[in-house]
Amino acid sequence: NFPAEAVPQAPEDPLFGLMRAYKADQNPDKVDLGIGAYRDDNAKPWVLPVVKKADEILRNDPEANHEYLPIAGLASLTSKAAELLLGTGAPAIAEKRVASVQTISGTGAVHLGALFLARFYKVNGANRTLYLSNPTWANHHQIFTNVGIPIEQYPYFDKKTKGLDFEGMKASLANAPDRSIILLHACAHNPTGVDPTPEQWREIAELMKAKKHFPFFDTAYQGFASGDLDRDAGAIRYFVEQGFELVIAQSFAKNFGLYGERAGCFHFVAPPAPDAAEVTTRVASQLAILQRSEISNPPIYGARIASIVLNDKDLFAEWQENLRTMSGRIIAMRQALRSKLEELGTPGQWNHITDQIGMFSFTGLSEAQVQKIRSDFHIYMTKNGRISMAGLNTRNIEYVAKAIDRVVR
Ligand code: PLP
Repeated sequence: NFPAEAVPQAPEDPLFGLMRAYKADQNPDKVDLGIGAYRDDNAKPWVLPVVKKADEILRNDPEANHEYLPIAGLASLTSKAAELLLGTGAPAIAEKRVASVQTISGTGAVHLGALFLARFYKVNGANRTLYLSNPTWANHHQIFTNVGIPIEQYPYFDKKTKGLDFEGMKASLANAPDRSIILLHACAHNPTGVDPTPEQWREIAELMKAKKHFPFFDTAYQGFASGDLDRDAGAIRYFVEQGFELVIAQSFAKNFGLYGERAGCFHFVAPPAPDAAEVTTRVASQLAILQRSEISNPPIYGARIASIVLNDKDLFAEWQENLRTMSGRIIAMRQALRSKLEELGTPGQWNHITDQIGMFSFTGLSEAQVQKIRSDFHIYMTKNGRISMAGLNTRNIEYVAKAIDRVVR
């Protein structure tokens, strides 16, 4: 038999399946709270005004062409991307302890990091275990499993408080074998919207240091979460200042609205040591080999757009303004949803809607309630009760609040 005869049918990706079902729904009141992409108050994709300007600059650049980028990507992007994460003038950058590679957005960065750790971070020839938060972005499971890294989970979400299960998380990290890899969402945790406080981050760092754990940061929402780029990088900067050796997967999909352009970076940061720069050079050389065999070199268009903005003082300031527009609208929608539910006297506590941050909120709706809100009200969300706040707007918020009220009663 042809080898493919034995290939079983794979299930459809749940999120993309949800998107398909939403598109096929003919009801005029339908609401998409599934997909993790920003929408404006008219429920339309928003091209950032600063991205339009950068696009214009790019189109009028007589030097622009369609040549290949180097294996490590566009240097004017990767250098600024590292600064964005670690801060301008960060000692790690000045001491050449950072190796940066442009990737296929955040997903490609997580994958490159996974591949790198699968190859080089072993004990007696075996891969170390990676701990994911429970829950986490579903793709994390697939990406790390694909490269043969064993996965465990640490508790994260407390169903009762709809906040962080901090004690459970700490106990799990304390019980993990020394030198495990711990995946941490830098800000705006997906899917829960629940982040540790700065004080909790300090405790996590202390615990991880004592256990010699290896931090793997995933940052897909810098600036998009709070509207403040520095604040959203706070956890990463703290860990770097604490002298951790770590890696960071960085996406520009959400904060630049460059979803389909696949712009992102992977960074390795070495701890301070006399040979740190040499170690970093060696790591960069291996990342280049991995990148070459995977994608050869990364895509150029989105990288140029982001680079133009990051390298120009005025455009950078405008970008910050655009970030505040997006995060501000989302925060306003959180407040509106919470107050409408409280006005309606909807059973339960709704403070978590405004306590959580970023694109998503874990509503606490059960799978049966999610089914009901979809069949009765044509409101689409993932079956774990996660809603994308960006799908809410001044036109549909009342409708959504009333629908939630109906299904929880
Ligand atoms: N990591 C997390 C936690 C995410 O939420 C996302 C996107 O939803 C990504 C990574 C990667 O997204 P992209 O590949 O579009 O940059």
